[in-house]
Amino acid sequence: MAPSVLWFRRDLRLADHPALDAARRASGADGVYGCFVLDDELLTRSGPARAQFLAACLERLDDDMGGRLVLRSGRPEEVVPALAAEVGAEAVFVTGDTAPYGTARDARVDGALGRDGRRLERVGTPYAVDPGSVAKSSGEPYRVFTPFRRAWEALGWPPPLPAPEQVDWRGARSNANPGGIVARSGSRRPRFWEDLPADAPASMPAPGEEGAHAALERFVDGGLGDYAEARNLVGQEGSSRLSPYLRFGCIHPRQVLSSIAGAEKATKDTDVFRSELAWREFYADVLFHQPESARSTFGPGLVHLRWDEGPVAEDRFRRWALGQTGVPLVDAGMRQLLAEGWVHNRARMVAASFLVKDLHLDWRWGARWFMYRLVDGDLASNQHGWQWTAGTGTDAAPFHRIFNPFLQAERFDPDGAYVRRYVAELDGMATKDLHAPGGPVAPGQLAFDGASGYPEPIVDHGRERHEALARFEAARTRGER
Ligand SMILES: Cc1cc2nc3c(=O)[nH]c(=O)nc-3n(C[C@H](O)[C@H](O)[C@H](O)COP(=O)(O)OP(=O)(O)OC[C@H]3O[C@@H](n4cnc5c(N)ncnc54)[C@H](O)[C@@H]3O)c2cc1C
Repeated sequence: MAPSVLWFRRDLRLADHPALDAARRASGADGVYGCFVLDDELLTRSGPARAQFLAACLERLDDDMGGRLVLRSGRPEEVVPALAAEVGAEAVFVTGDTAPYGTARDARVDGALGRDGRRLERVGTPYAVDPGSVAKSSGEPYRVFTPFRRAWEALGWPPPLPAPEQVDWRGARSNANPGGIVARSGSRRPRFWEDLPADAPASMPAPGEEGAHAALERFVDGGLGDYAEARNLVGQEGSSRLSPYLRFGCIHPRQVLSSIAGAEKATKDTDVFRSELAWREFYADVLFHQPESARSTFGPGLVHLRWDEGPVAEDRFRRWALGQTGVPLVDAGMRQLLAEGWVHNRARMVAASFLVKDLHLDWRWGARWFMYRLVDGDLASNQHGWQWTAGTGTDAAPFHRIFNPFLQAERFDPDGAYVRRYVAELDGMATKDLHAPGGPVAPGQLAFDGASGYPEPIVDHGRERHEALARFEAARTRGER
């Protein structure tokens, strides 16, 4: 036997880790080298929240491995084969990555290892059902969520692996430290972002596998019982907050699904929760089959949609990103993003709709800012979440369904708690004024005392709604020609 290398990527945990299990079995008494590669190609695109969370998760993983996580810096196709050669490993084990960058990177690493007579072993993926394996009877992939979900459930997933046996970790941390990740992150920013914050959010989730299991336990004991209703109420802790952990693989969805199944018999709440996890799997599947869907507008004819550009559009974008649009629910969501790197799903939808349908800005501008700031930023869920809201994606909301941010606030933040929490200027305002159609600060009027410094809305929702629909019609007509 020879030692194995386990290359961690989006699987920063030790429990229920099939690739680790395979690496351990393949190496016997020769032990496993567990490594993580600081890849500038990824780091320069990650914003400060994900960089900081990643660094903290790696510290925890290293602790859990008794200080034996090997950190290397550089291009994976050079660094990983070099490590395998150095320690005499025959195989490098990974959890498969099916997103565009990961697929191409792994093909390069596979090739480089192969030239040395070694191999890359892909074991499992970060999904309950591997992307690409749910298909119609014709073999075609699903493009619509509900039938995908049915087929996904029917295919099913194995139970989590039993608690891991003792792993004989070899090697020691070298050459790099996780702290450096933050300094190297997020340097690729468009010119017009220059004044926008580049610091990490003040409040971050507890890192690592322990943080993930604590969040899951909290949710199963608390929020799950009322999830179907409470998940939409922005002012409540009604959702699991598992997204950063799923993003970095501190927990596997199999573990989450199994603890839900074990929590109680199926209820509406467990069904809805499973369905949300299925959205994550659906989007990964769509991205697997259509890697271009991360960047291209999908809906028929909508490639012709006219977006605003230039200095006025860029200024509006900055007001949106800073939470200064004068529309309370949008601003609360955008300020939550700045403060926590996480945003309630409903606020994500409302803020995204506002950027696209009220400000007429390209959904990719907003998606990029979200990816930059989010601690759970995930290419498949983010780009498709944006395309869904913009009405341009696979199985998206129809374009003409335009969120009214004032009605959304009335319905999903009925007592104004969410807006008051994140928009300090509105703290003293009565709820009926917060929900005033057209915004709490009417155009041309002096700001309400309690709202000092809060702006009037930068656009008129009713007017921009008509404008969005007119642009949609024009794009469709052009597409039909
Ligand atoms: C514009 C926009 C951008 C988004 N960007 C991301 C992103 O970058 N990363 C991300 O993980 N989610 C993204 N989402 C989906 C969703 O908002 C978050 O997954 C959710 O808010 C995370 O909070 P939670 O863990 O408490 O969710 P819960 O409600 O507890 O759901 C449990 C899990 O299910 C998955 N999930 C829930 N809703 C969705 C959804 N609509 N699409 C895909 N997966 C879902 C997540 O993994 C989540 O952790 C985006 C949604 C929109 C509208």
